[in-house]
Amino acid sequence: MKKKTLVFVIVLFVMLSLLAISRSGVFVETNSCVGCGDCIDVCPVDAITLVDGKAVIDADKCILCEICIRSCTYDAIRKDK
Ligand code: SF4
Ligand code: SF4
Repeated sequence: MKKKTLVFVIVLFVMLSLLAISRSGVFVETNSCVGCGDCIDVCPVDAITLVDGKAVIDADKCILCEICIRSCTYDAIRKDK
C-alpha cells in the first residue's frame, strides 16, 4: 500500500471514530418521558418523534443543540457524559 493511501485510510478512520463518539450525545429516559411532545415542538431539525407515547431521538438527524433538554420539564432528556 502506498504511503499516501495509508495516511488517507488512517485519517478517514480517525474522522469516522470522532463522528461516532459525537453521535452518542442525547437520549431519552423512557421511564421519565410522559409523551407531552414539548421536545418535538422545539427541535429545529425534526429529530424527535413519539413512539408508543415516548419520545425517540433520531441520532442521524440530531445536531446536538440540546434545546430539547432544556424544554423537557420532566428531565427526561439527558446528554451522555
Ligand atoms: S418533553 Fe420530555 S416528557 Fe415531553 S415528550 Fe419530550 S422527553 Fe417526553
Ligand atoms: S439536541 Fe437539538 S437537534 Fe437533537 S433532538 Fe434535541 S432539539 Fe433536536
